[in-house]
Amino acid sequence: MVAWQAVLRGLLPARCGGCGAIGDVPHALCADCWSALHFVAAPFCACCGYPFELMPPEMLSPDYEDNDEESDLNHHADIFGGATKARSQHFNGVDYGKGVLCGPCLRHIPPYDRARAALIYDDGSRDYILRYKHGDRTDLTPLLARWMWQAGQDYWENASLLVPVPLHRSRLLMRRYNQSGLLAAALSRQTGIAFAPDLITRKRKTRSLAGLGRASRQREVQGAFAVSDRRATHYRLDGAKVVLVDDVLTTGATAAACARALKRAGAMQVDLVTIARVKR
Ligand SMILES: [Zn+2]
Ligand SMILES: [Zn+2]
Repeated sequence: MVAWQAVLRGLLPARCGGCGAIGDVPHALCADCWSALHFVAAPFCACCGYPFELMPPEMLSPDYEDNDEESDLNHHADIFGGATKARSQHFNGVDYGKGVLCGPCLRHIPPYDRARAALIYDDGSRDYILRYKHGDRTDLTPLLARWMWQAGQDYWENASLLVPVPLHRSRLLMRRYNQSGLLAAALSRQTGIAFAPDLITRKRKTRSLAGLGRASRQREVQGAFAVSDRRATHYRLDGAKVVLVDDVLTTGATAAACARALKRAGAMQVDLVTIARVKR
């Protein structure tokens, strides 16, 4: 932002990041928009962070898992404090213990270790997030980062690097800023954890992954992200616990591809934090 814009913005009355209304919006949101937000609340899956409350019944059903793949839960069990395959634990609300995983995670354990989001991406948060992404509302960064800090509270004690999911060069030129980079930088200031903005490189643009099946999504992001040896050395990635930062968790395929690239280059653990996540 150039100086005169900053001056102008300071003189203008605050504008709600959700509906755009001008007025008394102390937290960059008017009261109506604020009350429409749905924050992710426990209990949720220890791995992907999806709230059990919003999980479609078939995902909680004991029949959901079809055992077509052997999931390697050993590594994850350490992180979650002994996650087991006891799905019955989170069925009928019996015991929402810390290490309980959802059906989809039991079936295909994601390449990232944990995912946490501040908000549910729905009618209440969509406009707010789109304005942030495309509407030049970079002034919303501190508030969003504070929510993400809260959502990722289990991460900060042990994390060693904050890494944004990169935009492709052409998108960066169009938008002028990478919102994930702004959020990761803000989280780095809040936590003191090192910020590694250019650790991951986006080698090519990917199509929208919405509506694609699991296999097609994976194909689409295959090889789209890379971590060079030089950067891995520079940021001391070997054995690092990385927190990957993105705006919205949609299918998880992008985060998965980034996590794979980071782990191939030496990361020991990759956790994801986003502003919001879509409903399944
Ligand atoms: Zn509003
Ligand atoms: Zn899960």
